[in-house]
Amino acid sequence: MALIVQKYGGTSMGSPERIKNVARRVARFRAEGHQVVVVVSAMSGETNRLIALAKEIQATPDPRELDVVISTGEQVTIGLLCMALKDAGLQAKSYTGPQVRILTDDAFNKARILSIDEANIRADLDAGQVVVVAGFQGVDEAGNITTLGRGGSDTTGVALAAALKADECQIYTDVDGVYTTDPRIVPEARKLDTVTFEEMLEMASLGSKVLQIRSVEFAGKYKVKLRVLSSFQDEGEGTLITVEEGKNMEQPIISGIAFNRDEAKLTVLGVPDRPGIAYQLLGPIADANIDVDMIIQNVGRDGTTDFSFTVNRPEFEKAKAVLESVRQHIGAREIVGDNKICKVSAVGVGMRSHPGVASQMFRALAEEGINIQMISTSEIKISVVLDEKYLELAVRVLHRSFGLDK
Ligand code: ADP
Ligand code: ASP
Ligand code: MG
Repeated sequence: MALIVQKYGGTSMGSPERIKNVARRVARFRAEGHQVVVVVSAMSGETNRLIALAKEIQATPDPRELDVVISTGEQVTIGLLCMALKDAGLQAKSYTGPQVRILTDDAFNKARILSIDEANIRADLDAGQVVVVAGFQGVDEAGNITTLGRGGSDTTGVALAAALKADECQIYTDVDGVYTTDPRIVPEARKLDTVTFEEMLEMASLGSKVLQIRSVEFAGKYKVKLRVLSSFQDEGEGTLITVEEGKNMEQPIISGIAFNRDEAKLTVLGVPDRPGIAYQLLGPIADANIDVDMIIQNVGRDGTTDFSFTVNRPEFEKAKAVLESVRQHIGAREIVGDNKICKVSAVGVGMRSHPGVASQMFRALAEEGINIQMISTSEIKISVVLDEKYLELAVRVLHRSFGLDK
């Protein structure tokens, strides 16, 4: 007998028929003698619908009230799934995040889980119940409902698996595992049988939304056995996220290509070139709670320099406004922005022992006439910023160039 946490995403919960299908799968695991905790997302499209609704009322929705609204999608699906489970002859009980007491900090819309009280769940499991928990939500110390950021049900799943010391956390979604890149963009993408935590962390942080990055962080930290699988197939082992690097000789240099459309770039021109300038520019951006990604400062000339950085596209206008007030203060010449850029990255632990990956990447892009605007590297990834119109072409070209379709 094993204790398994299964998380089902929005597409998997997208209709009454699909919810019944989830119940059938859970019933099979129960019949094999396993204890099952199920974490569910809202039905596909529901969270987007609720956000749009909120914005019709208030252009920039109040963060606390937004969480009250967008956490409702998951309250619907826990109830529906429990009904389907009961109909399938199982005992089942639903919990919202606050009912479990998934305690988070109070950063509305992107809260972090601090602790989970798993006592009630354990008692229910021991009494033969299937426990169904709403993903994506928690409660702060003051009793406010919080949500965990888009895609946050993955994190609820892994955090519960960690708290319960589950034998495995299974993420059921609409693809049968983690692929070399998003199969919606490159149909030749291949499923990976295993991927290391390190690679998965990079891929998630660089835009592969198959797993929310915090779920991967949690799994790494608490040694949760994490697997991505299809909810539409009964066969298949999915993709296992592993600690070990592949031992076979054919460990690929690059494991995957990740991309993110949601990027924007800001450049401050004619910045006085003196100590403290980076701090003066980026301090106020950080104070405004805006995440900065790539940063480039050019070589100074004639006492001035240019300074560029990227932010998430939804924060572009806010960042620009903050920068404008700093510009006046420090006496820089001009601010130019571009919110039609994207980031494409090659990820692989094999890169460590193989020089020349960057030049191969740059050559492949050059051969297609794709201009690179910014570059950043780490031990296991190379990222480039490109004009958004090249995104799909660049992903396909790099996927082929690194032999990932073979
Ligand atoms: P869920 O609603 O089940 O959480 P998501 O839409 O959040 O599903 O994540 C699954 C989607 O992630 C897939 O449909 C796929 O388009 C996308 N995706 C992006 N990169 C990858 C990748 N490398 N491997 C697999 N899927 C990916
Ligand atoms: N329903 C939430 C979202 O759409 C959480 C999730 O699906 O993981 O982001
Ligand atoms: Mg998801």
